[in-house]
Amino acid sequence: MNKIKIMNDDLANKIAAGEVVEKCVSVVKELVENSVDAGASEIKIIVEEAGTKMIKVIDNGAGMSHDDAILAFERHATSKLYDETGLFRISSLGFRGEALPSIAAVSLVELKTSTGDVGTRIIINGGKLEKDEKADARKGTEITVSNLFFNTPARLKYLNSLYSELANICEYVNKMAFSYPNIKFVFISDDKVLLNTDGSGNLLKVIKDVYGAEVARKMKNISVFNDDYDVDGFISLPEVTRSSRNHMVTLVNQRVVRNVELNRAINDAYHTYKPETRYPIVVLNINCDPSLVDVNVHPSKLDIKFSNFDDLKELIKKGIKDVLDKSLLIPKIEMKTEQTEKPVVKEQVLNIERQNVIEDSVIDYSLFDEPVLTVNEDIESYDQTNETEDKKVIMPEMYPVGLAKGTYIICHNELGLYMIDQHAAKERINYEYYKKMLGNPNNNSIRMLIPLTVEFPSNEFIIIKQNLEVLRNMKFDIEESGINSFIIKEHPTWLKQGYEEESIKKILEVLIDQERNFSIEKFNEKTAITLSCKMAIKANTNISILEMESLINDLRKCENPYTCPHGRPTTIFYSNYELEKMFKRAM
Ligand code: ZN
Ligand code: ZN
Repeated sequence: MNKIKIMNDDLANKIAAGEVVEKCVSVVKELVENSVDAGASEIKIIVEEAGTKMIKVIDNGAGMSHDDAILAFERHATSKLYDETGLFRISSLGFRGEALPSIAAVSLVELKTSTGDVGTRIIINGGKLEKDEKADARKGTEITVSNLFFNTPARLKYLNSLYSELANICEYVNKMAFSYPNIKFVFISDDKVLLNTDGSGNLLKVIKDVYGAEVARKMKNISVFNDDYDVDGFISLPEVTRSSRNHMVTLVNQRVVRNVELNRAINDAYHTYKPETRYPIVVLNINCDPSLVDVNVHPSKLDIKFSNFDDLKELIKKGIKDVLDKSLLIPKIEMKTEQTEKPVVKEQVLNIERQNVIEDSVIDYSLFDEPVLTVNEDIESYDQTNETEDKKVIMPEMYPVGLAKGTYIICHNELGLYMIDQHAAKERINYEYYKKMLGNPNNNSIRMLIPLTVEFPSNEFIIIKQNLEVLRNMKFDIEESGINSFIIKEHPTWLKQGYEEESIKKILEVLIDQERNFSIEKFNEKTAITLSCKMAIKANTNISILEMESLINDLRKCENPYTCPHGRPTTIFYSNYELEKMFKRAM
């Protein structure tokens, strides 16, 4: 039976606009998704010169009959969907049908395919069928696209540099591997294997294959659900971050989707656990009834609308926070035994670029800012132990022995050696204190011995005047007093003694900064962070062992003792084992 149907015109017109092959990655995408649709359990992708010279995709899927193979290159042929309802259902792998003919029009295509008996081999050159013959009967499809854009030099100009072309393909293949851990993906670029998954269905193994063993060991399993959504996957410990948002991958019913708000919810869950400009590595599967999502149909991007979206975002945010709460987040210093990971892709692409003089446009290093390649290591041995219990993990007790460089408290216990950044630790303690105070409107106020008068330039004066209620709710007694100035007679009790005036001025500065899109949450958050830093012990301040002890005590009581409010670590750890290894006491 021939599986490919011709779409009706209405649907075809809906799709046709804007659907053109623009980049090598669109070609790879089309071919790989055909392989997935054909039920392949192994897909091999081979590219030369970032796909501009050659793209080959080999699968062990169902294959095509001779007639289907010919039909696949006619316009509007598709096996993916037959009507409009199919188009909006995310459980089908999107729509195509336009793409194969478009690809064939601008390249040399060789297709070998077989459903298990007589095979077919066709060659299409610049859109013209040049060969149509019988071929061997290996079940599956092998399609080779060469000399892409050979007859459209104008378009070649629009291609990004080979470097970013390859980066795009690499990113796409990685995401497909996350979507289909039960399909074996092999990705080879100029004879180098860039990805090789085992198709065992184990997502953590795929993460290891993409990011390396060290990252995989620092991923935590997450699994949460509500009435509508079932979310599972892996999230990185806060110490593992990337400079690009691209490593937060969300899949809906196995389809990679991009949703800014979903990414924001994930990122918010890590608030103060990591620096604001760094992003976690996350792979989340969201499973739900297809009727709960609405896909924005545009070939180049896949945006999506969810029903009960606030509940879903809350579910994800809380799920991630719970996992972080149950993990001991002190970065462990490990001695590298060998160079385990190499950014081979970067090296390789740089080589290509040296050979080919192609004008660079945008170079996107984000994919390669950290190693992307991998080592073999037994995934089963990964330590996932401290997430079994259903309670918050407490930072271990540790005993200070001294202060190094006036900055780092050296501590130890039976597990090993710790270093605590005293400024970061104090910042964290202050931050949680101020957050609590700011979130509690029933605080008392204190009358100042000498009222404080503050003067501002008129633009800032106006902003403060508009927000006097905010300050009064915080228990400030503040009034206008003369031109462009205010008088403050009472302040909340929780301002640090001896630093009242400085604190008040900081709070007013935060208020002025928050001028646009003022929200009380953001204002409180900013105030807590600013005050926590200002009121913390500076680096290069010598403190006594007693003071260290009380600092550690307070830190251990924090909700998140591991990072300062800016997301930098408070504490790092050298295990006994690592110390002995470094001193060659243990081999
Ligand atoms: Zn600071
Ligand atoms: Zn900080």
